[in-house]
Amino acid sequence: MKKDKRFKSVIGTVSNFFIFFLLAAFVTTCCIMLFISTLQESVGREFTQSEITLAAKITMVNVVLISACMAAIDYFRRKTTVERPVKKITDATSKMIEGDFSVRIEPIAKIGSDDSFNEIIECINKMAEELSGVETLRTDFVANVSHEMKTPLAVMQNYGQLLQAPDLPEEKRLEYARAITASSRRLADMMTNILKLNRLENQQIYPNLTVFDLGEQLCENLLSYESVWEKKNICIETELAEGVLVSADAELLSLVWSNLFSNAFKFTEEGGKVSLTLTADEAYATVKISDTGCGMTADIGAHIFEKFYQGDTSHATEGNGLGLALVKRVVDIMQGEIGVESAVGVGTTFTVKIRRNANEPEENG
Ligand code: ADP
Repeated sequence: MKKDKRFKSVIGTVSNFFIFFLLAAFVTTCCIMLFISTLQESVGREFTQSEITLAAKITMVNVVLISACMAAIDYFRRKTTVERPVKKITDATSKMIEGDFSVRIEPIAKIGSDDSFNEIIECINKMAEELSGVETLRTDFVANVSHEMKTPLAVMQNYGQLLQAPDLPEEKRLEYARAITASSRRLADMMTNILKLNRLENQQIYPNLTVFDLGEQLCENLLSYESVWEKKNICIETELAEGVLVSADAELLSLVWSNLFSNAFKFTEEGGKVSLTLTADEAYATVKISDTGCGMTADIGAHIFEKFYQGDTSHATEGNGLGLALVKRVVDIMQGEIGVESAVGVGTTFTVKIRRNANEPEENG
């Protein structure tokens, strides 16, 4: 295969030389004929046959030598300025095709003002960097999903085995069946979240815009946690600006509020407080959801929007670390902003700012 390539390249070079030679021979012959006829006229004598033959031979040798030199120079120029960089690039891309995204191409020495190869190399290096990032995310994601699935599956397996014991008291049978149901629910929740996140991340989302009262949506969402706050004796405080109409995707936004409320109630101890405020100006609506829960350190706060990240392990079984990743993705789709302020032992406040009319262009500044 390599020999074949080399043979083709030699044939190419030789044919280049011949084309070059024929061209040079034609141009030179025309010049010489012109020169001889002008010379004959100005000197006033005809040249003999042998004089013309000698001149033709010398010209022929000159043309062959000059075109051979030119072809050789052209050959080396092509080798260094075209073939070498092309080989570097094709070698690197072949490695990427095989799945090695760690390759990077060294920039080549710039010759003259043409820097096109370095521009291509820069793009390929950037592409390799992006691809290796995506690959890491993919493998991390698979590892995380497998890890998260292991615990509930092990629980279901163990309790399933226990259920097979003969003469199991009714009370135990119910306990084991409940544990299996809870674990399968956890798995189902995780799968639902993964599918939602996958849809939000990988597909072109066209938000389904409708005009609705944001305050009403927040109240409805908050009320769905009534049984939780009553059980934990959590005090609720609300301060909602009235008549805040927004044009947004109600279903997507609802996902944001339910995740933030669910976290607020989950991380707040008995007797704590959860507050909700809604303010708005002409362009933006701002929602704050605060709690007097356990709070988090700045270190934890820096990672909470990452997939599968759980800073508080004491509540690990009540979630799967995907809630805030979903929230962040939705806020990004809505071109909004989300921020968090938290202090350990004091509480946490999430602030979400969204545009009231998703159709209008964003304001500068
Ligand atoms: P999970 O469903 O496991 O809670 P999330 O993505 O919703 O996952 O949250 C990720 C992490 O962010 C949690 O494990 C917790 O450490 C932290 N967190 C989120 N909300 C709060 C809150 N209101 N108070 C304290 N920590 C929080």
